[in-house]
Amino acid sequence: MALIVHKYGGTSMGSTERIRNVAKRVAKWARAGHQMVVVPSAMSGETNRLLGLAKELAPEKQTADYERELDMLASTGEQASSALLAIALQAEGLQSVSYAGWQVPIRTDSAHTKARIESIDDTKVRADLEAGKVVIVTGFQGADALGNITTLGRGGSDTSAVAVAAAMKAQECLIYTDVDGVYTTDPRVVPEARRLQTVSFEEMLEMASMGSKVLQIRSVEFAGKYRVPLRVLSSFTPWDIDIAVESQSGTLITFEEDENMEQAVVSGIAFNRDEAKISVLGVPDRPGIAYQILGAIAQANIDVDVIIQNLSKDGKTDFSFTVNRGDFAKAMDLLRSNVLPSLGAQDVVGDTKICKVSIVGIGMRSHVGIASKMFGVLSEEGINIQMISTSEIKTSVVIDEKYMELAVRALHKAFDLDQAAVQNAA
Ligand code: ADP
Ligand code: ASP
Ligand code: MG
Repeated sequence: MALIVHKYGGTSMGSTERIRNVAKRVAKWARAGHQMVVVPSAMSGETNRLLGLAKELAPEKQTADYERELDMLASTGEQASSALLAIALQAEGLQSVSYAGWQVPIRTDSAHTKARIESIDDTKVRADLEAGKVVIVTGFQGADALGNITTLGRGGSDTSAVAVAAAMKAQECLIYTDVDGVYTTDPRVVPEARRLQTVSFEEMLEMASMGSKVLQIRSVEFAGKYRVPLRVLSSFTPWDIDIAVESQSGTLITFEEDENMEQAVVSGIAFNRDEAKISVLGVPDRPGIAYQILGAIAQANIDVDVIIQNLSKDGKTDFSFTVNRGDFAKAMDLLRSNVLPSLGAQDVVGDTKICKVSIVGIGMRSHVGIASKMFGVLSEEGINIQMISTSEIKTSVVIDEKYMELAVRALHKAFDLDQAAVQNAA
């Protein structure tokens, strides 16, 4: 008997019929003797619907008070699906109880809309498991020290699940979704994409941080920190599939270098349409400017991604960086009202129509020329590169959003990731 955590995403929870299927699958695992903790997402489209309502009422408001209410609002989506799943499990003849984040409790910091989990008290959940219940822990949410409901950022139910699995030392955390694993790139964009049987933790971390939405980055960070065995698999297989077969399906995130691992130089391609570029123009080129600009941005709790500073001309330089699109208006306001006057810069301009495309692979450590091959492929397609950033195992470029699919497809092919390429080589 093992303690297993299942997480079901929005599409998997998308209708009462699908919730019934989830309940049947979970019941199968529970009846096989496992202690089951299940973390559901809101039904698909629900979080967008709720946030859309808020936007109708207050389009540009992004104050702390407003973000607190967004969390009150968005967290209801998961609360509803958790109760529905508990009801469906009870209808299957199992004992089941659902808990909101604050009831567990899952304690987070107070960064509304992107809170971080600080601690999980599993006393209550353990007692319920011992009593033979299937416990539903509501995904995507927690509560801060003052009891305010917080949410963990879009896609945050993944993080709830992995954090619960880490806190409870679960034997495995299974992330059930609408694809049957982690692919070389988003199969919705490149139909030739191939499922990876295993992907190393480091690659998964880069792919998630570069925009592969199949796992939220923080869930991968948790998995790495606490060595949580993590697998991504489909919730659309028949619910009564043999558990032994189910346990081997999908993609396993591995922590050790595995001899049998697929040894491609580039393992995957990620893209991100959620960023916007900000350029501060005509900044006096003196020590401290990066700190003045980015320090203010960090204080407002806005994450910065790619950064470039141009060579100075006549003592002035341009300084560009990317932020999440959701933080774009806030960052622009902040720079215009607080930073620009004291910095003595000429102007600040923004571009929301950009995207970031990244190639990822641990093989990049030991192979040279991979980045230049990437630039060559993009140049052949006539795609202009606006910014570049690299790490040991990835190279990212910022390009015009309209070329995103073209770039991803061309790179996928050039790095032999297409299904056909692998079949030919075999
Ligand atoms: P869930 O609601 O189950 O959390 P998500 O929509 O958050 O599902 O994540 C699954 C989606 O991630 C897939 O439908 C797929 O379009 C997308 N995706 C992006 N990159 C990848 C990738 N490399 N492999 C698999 N899926 C990916
Ligand atoms: N429902 C939340 C979202 O849509 C969290 C999640 O699905 O993981 O972002
Ligand atoms: Mg998700």
